[in-house]
Amino acid sequence: MVDTPAPVLVLLRDDYRVADNPALHAACATGQPILCAYVQDAALQNTSATRIAGWAQAACAQLASSLQAHGVTLFMLCGPTRLSVPALAQAVNATDVFWNRRYDAPGIAADTDVHASLKKQGMTVHSCTGRLLFEPWAIRTQAGQPYRVFTAWWRAAQNLPEPPPPLPAPDMRGKGYVPAAPLTLPQGVHLGRVGTQMPPLPPGWTSGEKAAHANLHQFMENALPHYATQRDRADVAHGTSQLSPYIRVGQISVRQIWHAIRHAQQRNPQLTTDAEKFLAELGWRDFAWMQMFTTPDLATRNLRPEFNHMPWRTHAADMAAWQQGQTGFPLVDAGMRQLARTGWMHNRVRMVVASFLTKHLLTDWQKGERWFYAQLIDADAAVNAMNWQWGAGTGIDAAPWFRIFNPVGQSEKYDPTGQYIRTWVPELAALDNKTIHTPWKSTQRLAYPAPIVDLKLGRQRALDCWKNLPKHQ
Ligand code: FAD
Repeated sequence: MVDTPAPVLVLLRDDYRVADNPALHAACATGQPILCAYVQDAALQNTSATRIAGWAQAACAQLASSLQAHGVTLFMLCGPTRLSVPALAQAVNATDVFWNRRYDAPGIAADTDVHASLKKQGMTVHSCTGRLLFEPWAIRTQAGQPYRVFTAWWRAAQNLPEPPPPLPAPDMRGKGYVPAAPLTLPQGVHLGRVGTQMPPLPPGWTSGEKAAHANLHQFMENALPHYATQRDRADVAHGTSQLSPYIRVGQISVRQIWHAIRHAQQRNPQLTTDAEKFLAELGWRDFAWMQMFTTPDLATRNLRPEFNHMPWRTHAADMAAWQQGQTGFPLVDAGMRQLARTGWMHNRVRMVVASFLTKHLLTDWQKGERWFYAQLIDADAAVNAMNWQWGAGTGIDAAPWFRIFNPVGQSEKYDPTGQYIRTWVPELAALDNKTIHTPWKSTQRLAYPAPIVDLKLGRQRALDCWKNLPKHQ
């Protein structure tokens, strides 16, 4: 009788792709059978009430289909990570365990414990780099401290070697491992197969590695040549890449994007300004994760402590109007309705609605952060928290509090044709390009709310409260 060689275990978490997946690639390179598992750990994935949970489930189902096409089954391992992973590895007699590193504090803590248990069991752990362009500890000031300013951090990042080129999809033929008999696992731990049936998705989105790459190529063809000048224009459909949901679940890697953009730039040097601007945006994502790595409570603490004394308002009706896109300010409402319908919002509009909530409505940014996290299909713990702190002026390298966006001025500047508002606030569609930004000036009867706040008074209230913070007394 020929002995089946011992398998290696590959853990998949928010890296639901076959190509440029360093953990999967390295596992396949061992030549041993591979057991691929997604770990469902309720304690680490407390996202059941969020849209991102559905989007991630779809990505997992897509990956299960892709792996199946290569003859590999994607298993779902349910149970606490610390218990379930060592138990599964032991039960199948795995020699090695592979994963792509994660950078959130609970994930790091769980992986550190699992690593120690596996080592005790005599197994080798391979923790690979697959999520970021640069490791969060790779770029430090001369004094060895984390950078606090993006431009300085980005300059330092550009002095490092470029991120390594993406890996091809590995050859998985004949490598899929399926346990021959039901496994004996501890109580509370179950192993099943990930289903390939897709959950319903918000309109306009297609899940999958293929869809992610199609988006990237369309973006490079059509929008990259104008990215630096048009990325802020809400009325330009597809003026940005709309890759964030795919990046969030790892259906495309930032290294793949980085090198595709670099190749385009090499082929056409005229793209340089736009390409550099776009790569810097990807850099902001890394910068957010560097912040989350060094400040794990980024989503729950004002990084500028004087804001602990801000007399935030709690006003249920204002909050509901903001959430439902019924504030009476067309750009704000268009953004919030785009979010509600599609799970995504244009970046410029995210900045405007965040400023409006925190400043004109004087609402704690953490409430906005949580609402966004529940609604976005690109909801990213670090990126969302950093951007909310940026907008509210409570973070490092943030916009100062006194920079208060005027939602009307922003609307006129970034939706000059009114096309964005017409798409998401159809009750204003008949207004001309000027009045559409200030419908309260229209003589027409409109089924649209009056503004919930006087912009001048709201702005003054925000400035007064800020001036009275302890630091300014
Ligand atoms: P593009 O302009 O095509 O940019 C390419 C990629 O660069 C994006 O996919 C994203 O990965 C990265 N990027 C772009 N802008 C930023 C930024 N400001 N900060 C960090 N990375 C950036 N983005 C998320 O992915 N998840 C979030 O939860 C999230 N929450 C946000 C909350 C607020 C209040 C604000 C103002 C911004 C938030 N962003 C978030 C950042 C940004 O709005 C989105 O990344 C962007 O709109 C996604 O669209 P895109 O892929 O077309 O971007």
